[in-house]
Amino acid sequence: MKSDIRVCGDWETAHERPVYTLGDACPECGADAVNSAPAPFNPEDPHGEYRRRARVRNRDGDADRDGDDE
Ligand SMILES: [Zn+2]
Repeated sequence: MKSDIRVCGDWETAHERPVYTLGDACPECGADAVNSAPAPFNPEDPHGEYRRRARVRNRDGDADRDGDDE
């Protein structure tokens, strides 16, 4: 029996953990759901890292700026 479980393509940004679904979109955030086995994109996706950094920066505000540009 072939299972067709997919995972939220944006879970690293949108959720604390992978969100699995059998449909085409994440049931929680509506992002495209991707096949959980061979990812259609590079798992080291630099854009994903950028999003994670942006999220941290948003959460921490100006904490890591040291006021250098003020
Ligand atoms: Zn999601």
